[in-house]
Amino acid sequence: MEISPEVLRKSVESLLKLQEIDAKLFQYRQESSVVPEEMVKAQSDLLEISKVVKSLDRGFKDVDRERRALELRSLTLAEDLKRAEAKRRDLRNTKEEFSANKEVDNFQKRVAETKKLLEEKTEISKQKTEARDAKQKENDELQTKVKQLEEARAKGLSDITSKIEELLKQRDQFISQVDDQVFSLYERVQKIRKGSGVALVKDSICTGCFVSLPPQTRMQLEKLTALITCPSCSRILFPQNELSGGLTSNNAIVADSIKAASV
Ligand SMILES: [Zn+2]
Repeated sequence: MEISPEVLRKSVESLLKLQEIDAKLFQYRQESSVVPEEMVKAQSDLLEISKVVKSLDRGFKDVDRERRALELRSLTLAEDLKRAEAKRRDLRNTKEEFSANKEVDNFQKRVAETKKLLEEKTEISKQKTEARDAKQKENDELQTKVKQLEEARAKGLSDITSKIEELLKQRDQFISQVDDQVFSLYERVQKIRKGSGVALVKDSICTGCFVSLPPQTRMQLEKLTALITCPSCSRILFPQNELSGGLTSNNAIVADSIKAASV
């Protein structure tokens, strides 16, 4: 693609500034797409714990249902015993007494057995409540932690979004200073090169990928009348020593940002 050296120089100088913005944009987009590991782990732990709480709660409810049934049986038996004892008081002969005593004994035995069962079941029920409550506490604490992590992430994402919006505004200003064809090529390359689409050439080396350029590319670069790209990384190339004076002092920073963003 033929281009005048002045248009090329001006475009490249704007692209170098644009590239600093694009490297930051890439970094921010990367940051916003990564979900913190700590949050992912806490969310998954919470899911597991809540399942355990539910299962412990079911276990407790089953036992407690049995305990309440025993409680009811215990009350009924106590009533039966009272009735049997009352009946014994109104006896007329020895034969009846024998039978009544047997009935009272029988109820007393069953009352005692049920009482023992109820005590055992009450203890189990108590243990199950404690186990469930302890897990529930763990669940609640983790839930608070997950909420905090999610809020922190939402805040972080909102900050990043503001920064991205600000950078996009700055970006528009530089785009208007770049030749359309140069920009469309830059845009294609920066999208695959993590926000870096232009590289300065220093000592015949592309500072984007640090590959030594072949003689043919070097010759093309010297003319400055065409848009030349790196045969290795596809970045738009421009000789560092052809930049206008003001930008030269910036080269180190630019080169570093390219280096940081390069593959
Ligand atoms: Zn290169």
